[in-house]
Amino acid sequence: MSIDLNTAKQELLKLKEEYETRIDKIKDHIQNPQDDLNEHWEDQAIAYRQNDMRTNLMGEARQSLMYVENALSRIENGTYGECEVCGEHIEVQRLQALPYATLCMKHAE
Ligand SMILES: [Zn+2]
Repeated sequence: MSIDLNTAKQELLKLKEEYETRIDKIKDHIQNPQDDLNEHWEDQAIAYRQNDMRTNLMGEARQSLMYVENALSRIENGTYGECEVCGEHIEVQRLQALPYATLCMKHAE
């Protein structure tokens, strides 16, 4: 049994939007730190650390977005749901939990 591509696509489009919104929000925070809860920051050092953290978060969100976009293009070219190592179908439960998985359970470890 393989996963329903329409369902997977809907799921991926939802994730794509989520990550894009998250990236925009983080970008906003980095560019306009004065909008933030400044009163809770004891000094600039903390503010800098907050921005470091945000830059990391943004990196992660960008990477996830890239995975999602890759998965969407795999749906388009018909290779969605195939393990990149062995070419077998990735387990349906795994794809439901992680719609942009590129490896089967065996090879994800
Ligand atoms: Zn595999």
